[in-house]
Amino acid sequence: MYPFHYQKASSVAQASAALARSGESRLLSGGMTLIPSLKHRLIQVDELIDIKGIPGLSDIRMQGDQLWIGAGATHKQVAQHAQVRAFSAGLADLAGLIGDPQVRARGTLGGSVANNDPAADYPAAVLGLAASIVTSHREIAADDFFKGMFATALAPDEVIQGLRFARPLKSAYAKFRHPATGYAMAGVFVAQTDAGAWRVAVTGATDGVCRWPEAEAAAGHSPADLRFVHDGVLDDIHAPAAYRTHLVSLLYAQAVTRLS
Ligand SMILES: Cc1cc2nc3c(=O)[nH]c(=O)nc-3n(C[C@H](O)[C@H](O)[C@H](O)COP(=O)(O)OP(=O)(O)OC[C@H]3O[C@@H](n4cnc5c(N)ncnc54)[C@H](O)[C@@H]3O)c2cc1C
Repeated sequence: MYPFHYQKASSVAQASAALARSGESRLLSGGMTLIPSLKHRLIQVDELIDIKGIPGLSDIRMQGDQLWIGAGATHKQVAQHAQVRAFSAGLADLAGLIGDPQVRARGTLGGSVANNDPAADYPAAVLGLAASIVTSHREIAADDFFKGMFATALAPDEVIQGLRFARPLKSAYAKFRHPATGYAMAGVFVAQTDAGAWRVAVTGATDGVCRWPEAEAAAGHSPADLRFVHDGVLDDIHAPAAYRTHLVSLLYAQAVTRLS
């Protein structure tokens, strides 16, 4: 680990100002990705800005008919929250499938979404449910937020405060876990929006979460000839592209059977 300064922010505005002041700085949330990256000297920072203690940052509550989940909410909180489950069973199930109990106890929604690992689970729910990402600066629609492998629309001094979800009529998530890490070899989130439209988001299979238009057109059904066709299906030591493509179709069919 390289040496760095540590500070604790007491508000989102303070965290954002600290990011803007320092050249190489990072927010520390659950630390599940950031701390190993620092320990292995994969990244070097001048300043670490701890946001865990910011009041209200991990709140989960209804805002009218919408669900608000603060950026600091842990995966465990989301998985076990009765209001989340009643709102979207797919979202609660997904949070409960992340990593292992230790990771779920510390990892946060904001950290996962900001990191945008191509094999992370949350991006599939955020895109599938057409959530809004509310930051220190603005509100960003999920369709405009994810920009490919580890890339997002966030500016360097932008802090995610929380995410706002519109109530789906139905939702479900199906995932095939990497046996060593628990990350998604592939994961498919299916949702029917309040207006009746279908959204299907795929994670783990390509270089970043993406929607699957052909499955959306299938409107909650899984026709036998439905195939995941995408130019950038990952082909690596974990799985060949053909295997991942096949997984996506299977997981879509599985998610459809679980819709509630
Ligand atoms: C062994 C292991 C297994 C895992 N398995 C899975 C899995 O199966 N599925 C899965 O999806 N994930 C998995 N993860 C990832 C984990 O769930 C966390 O979501 C992820 O590490 C990031 O969340 P965090 O809160 O720990 O963020 P941190 O590590 O603290 O931060 C990650 C990045 O996000 C930035 N950041 C944090 N909070 C904010 C914010 N509010 N606004 C802007 N930027 C912010 C940080 O500056 C940093 O760059 C796994 C991790 C480990 C170590």
